[in-house]
Amino acid sequence: MAVKRDYYEVLGVARDASPEDIKKAFRKLAKDCHPDSNHENGSAERFKEVNEAYEVLSDQAKRSAYDRFGHAGAQSQGFEGFGNFGFSGFGDIFDAFFGASSEAEFSPRPGSDIHTRVTLTFEEAALGCDKEIDVNRVERCSRCHGSRSEPGSETPRCTECDGRGRVQRVQQSLFGRFTNVINCPKCGGEGRIVEQPCGQCRGSGKERKRHSLKVNIPAGIDDGNAIRLTGEGDAGDRGGSPGHVYITAEVKPHAYFRREGYDVNYDLEINFAQAALGCEIQVPTLYGEDKLKIPPGAQSGTVYKLKNRGIRRLQRNGQGDQLVNLKVVTPEKLNKEQKKLFEQLLNSLNGDNARKKIEP
Ligand SMILES: [Zn+2]
Ligand SMILES: [Zn+2]
Repeated sequence: MAVKRDYYEVLGVARDASPEDIKKAFRKLAKDCHPDSNHENGSAERFKEVNEAYEVLSDQAKRSAYDRFGHAGAQSQGFEGFGNFGFSGFGDIFDAFFGASSEAEFSPRPGSDIHTRVTLTFEEAALGCDKEIDVNRVERCSRCHGSRSEPGSETPRCTECDGRGRVQRVQQSLFGRFTNVINCPKCGGEGRIVEQPCGQCRGSGKERKRHSLKVNIPAGIDDGNAIRLTGEGDAGDRGGSPGHVYITAEVKPHAYFRREGYDVNYDLEINFAQAALGCEIQVPTLYGEDKLKIPPGAQSGTVYKLKNRGIRRLQRNGQGDQLVNLKVVTPEKLNKEQKKLFEQLLNSLNGDNARKKIEP
């Protein structure tokens, strides 16, 4: 048998390398020379060597014995060396080294989030409203309350794991013995045996249900904003917290209001005569109609502000304004009488201010 190489040399680390560095070096080497991915001659031997070095250097007691006494010291610390077991055990060894044991399956697992949408009118979004939203979610079974057993049936403690849900497996493999904690195969990690599965959920402990949620849509929400309903998502596993429900708002466009921040834009069309003489007009707002006084000589493009008639500020006090954009509309069709009146008007305006404005 060939002389064993120094373990530090095998892993390519310094003698004072930290456990972290040793782990890092090992992972890299183990991947590089794993016989599943590296079919070069001698890779199996190399892989074995790397694992052996790691087995010793990753264990504080074995490492210090090795530091003092060399290879013999490591063996005195319970390192049994490697027998000749063939290559069948690679998956198991890797699970042990890379922490891919079924640990995650025992721990509480939070439920999934649910994403849904709600369609709102412009007014509902601006002023807030209450909505009922249906979600299709995973809930604890209402019959067995998540126990998975038919109510009244026995659920004896699992004898395989003594109710702990996990079992230790000592595995003999090419590189020695590894202790691996796995999900109890008999009870699936639950610690008890379901003798008679619940008839409603067929032993899953869960059921998918349509659930109606009352949602307060806050005033000022905008298209694309989302509301989170904490803990209203899918139920978790093994006592894990439930997921959340995220509701994204889709705000329908309004027939004549447009949102700009928290202000509402509104185009007000008046005719030529109203603009010239001035007028009082009822203007629609989110809060009912408001009277707007247009002074004589109003020009197209003038913006009038209706204070505090805009959108409520999201999660704050107050609201924006309504901005009324004046549009003076030129009549497209005139009857005989109107035509005559306009001709009179034209004669009257000729040489007056209308002309002066055009000529510099
Ligand atoms: Zn059930
Ligand atoms: Zn068990």
